[in-house]
Amino acid sequence: RKHVSKEDNSIEDVIQTEDVSSKPHAVQVVLANEDHTFSLDEEALKRVLLRDEVKDRYVCVVSVAGAFRHGKSFLLDFFLRFMRSKYELKQNTSQWLGSEDTPLDGFSWRGGSERDTTGILMWSEIFLTELATGEKVAVLLLDTQGTWDSESTVKECATIFALSTMISSVQIYNLSSNIQEDDLQHLQLFTEYGRLALEGSGVTPFQRLQFLVRDWRFPYEAPYGAVGGQQILEKRLKVNENSHQELISLRKHIRSCFSEIACFLMPHPGIKVATSPTFDGRLTEIDSEFVDNLKILVPMLLAPENLVLKKINGEKVKAKDFVQYCKCYMEIYKG
Ligand code: GDP
Ligand code: MG
Repeated sequence: RKHVSKEDNSIEDVIQTEDVSSKPHAVQVVLANEDHTFSLDEEALKRVLLRDEVKDRYVCVVSVAGAFRHGKSFLLDFFLRFMRSKYELKQNTSQWLGSEDTPLDGFSWRGGSERDTTGILMWSEIFLTELATGEKVAVLLLDTQGTWDSESTVKECATIFALSTMISSVQIYNLSSNIQEDDLQHLQLFTEYGRLALEGSGVTPFQRLQFLVRDWRFPYEAPYGAVGGQQILEKRLKVNENSHQELISLRKHIRSCFSEIACFLMPHPGIKVATSPTFDGRLTEIDSEFVDNLKILVPMLLAPENLVLKKINGEKVKAKDFVQYCKCYMEIYKG
């Protein structure tokens, strides 16, 4: 706990920051309440972001969003393996995936059929590095959860999706089997906001949108990975003069909101991952083709040279100011 000096007893100083020696864990930062309003756990966010070694760094915020039970948390736990190997242990090897028979832990996955609370989780470990430009940065990982099953939960999830997109610099839109028109429509709520922000400032409001298609079944049509992903993305975002006006404007908005849009096609991870109740995440039980693509996908998103700084109105954002931005964005979706 910090000392509060007489001259400077601002609120930041009296907040106890997260104990770095405690076991790393997921911190619920945004919560959908029963009455369909949202709350931000400002104190929890501050405990993570106001640590001395973090607060003055620029942030890179990587989020994974999309429907329930499509392997978001599972994927994030591989992100954690990479981050620990590369950023904490500073290992420069391709062995970041670890040993073959280690269970996968981190954000909790394989939730069974029970429901998690709709919201946004932040991992308590913040990974630190320096970019080639010399900037010291902090990398934050966000998981989102919620079901898109009833009308009210669809609205909740769309809001969580919008919020997580606005506070991240890389939004990974996790989809099952393909990019459908529905999936694009879920982008609508927040592209509306993006459009308003755009009118005000003239700068592209958001940085990178990374579609991630899981269980891609047509590698002969478009190969696994980023090249096949690009082909599918072009197809889905293409419009012609016969397209309905609504389709045209949705696509135009999506493109104008992000400085970069990409897509990656992942193979199916195998029957054990998809169905076995005793599967604990060990590599030996995951199809090798899936593992091979993880080895490409994860560094492509998280290697220091590929990090994307969070920008708001074209300006980089420091960890200590990030909390305030989250508060502002929450205000937009009040009620
Ligand atoms: P989340 O709700 O999106 O966070 O999903 P989880 O990460 O909790 O995973 C839900 C279930 O999907 C688990 O049983 C995983 O083993 C399984 N799973 C993980 N990745 C994949 C994938 O790429 N394809 C399929 N079919 N299942 C997956
Ligand atoms: Mg999850």
